[in-house]
Amino acid sequence: MEERAFYTESQTTRAATLRCPYCRTTDTYELRWLLRRKKDRPPKGADDRDRAKFAKAQSYMVLLDDKVACKNLRCRKRFEVSGMKTTAFLSDGQAK
Ligand SMILES: [Zn+2]
Repeated sequence: MEERAFYTESQTTRAATLRCPYCRTTDTYELRWLLRRKKDRPPKGADDRDRAKFAKAQSYMVLLDDKVACKNLRCRKRFEVSGMKTTAFLSDGQAK
């Protein structure tokens, strides 16, 4: 059984402060994240091994954007998102 069967997927955006390496302007960017929220119960057809894996599974999110376009109109270069975590576990509060 695939791991993704344990989760409900959705997308969200979160603000992050990034600094353009070309013009050195710092600005706030809305980055897209894929949310994987753990389901309330194991999927149908799960065997004992799947259930054990499901018990250990945690809700998490993965950063989808790896590049952004600089907001400085005189620059507008695309630069890589760096210096931040690209995956994060969700606490129960965030996961619901
Ligand atoms: Zn720039």
